[in-house]
Amino acid sequence: MRKTMKEMIYETRSPEETRAFGKKIGAAAKPGDLYTLVGDLGVGKTVFTQGIAEGLGIREPICSPTFTIVQVYEEGRMPFYHFDVYRIGDIEEMDEIGYEDYFYGEGLCMIEWANLIEEILPQERFDVTIEKNLEKGFDYRKIIIKEHGTEK
Ligand code: ADP
Ligand code: MG
Repeated sequence: MRKTMKEMIYETRSPEETRAFGKKIGAAAKPGDLYTLVGDLGVGKTVFTQGIAEGLGIREPICSPTFTIVQVYEEGRMPFYHFDVYRIGDIEEMDEIGYEDYFYGEGLCMIEWANLIEEILPQERFDVTIEKNLEKGFDYRKIIIKEHGTEK
């Protein structure tokens, strides 16, 4: 199998722009889509995720699922599974919460700190990275989306 890799870069200069970009992605998402999300503290992961939720039609605020591993939102046009696996000690904890029902389910999955569970990530996914560049201003963010997957 040959790997395909498409990459897209989007630059924003305010939280509103990052949120609006997330909203577009949420609006275009298909059931079963999975996104990983990586970036330093304060870079805008929650702002971006809030936009995605909004694009799915979710009105309640998105909070960090820090103490639950996964937070499920059902009020949008498809379920939204928001993971934060930062506190995973052992990959078996993912089995315990039944991660496959989410990863291969009918909703949109977003996984923060996905690098910690690399071995169980589906091949077909989108990897999102958000970066700052202080030379371009305090509010500048670069959002990189890489399509990860295998050729059919
Ligand atoms: P994280 O979840 O990655 O720790 P947050 O989304 O909670 O980060 O916070 C991002 C912070 O950066 C917010 O205070 C937001 O107002 C600010 N910010 C400034 N510029 C941007 C931008 N272009 N995109 C997103 N957030 C921005
Ligand atoms: Mg956050």
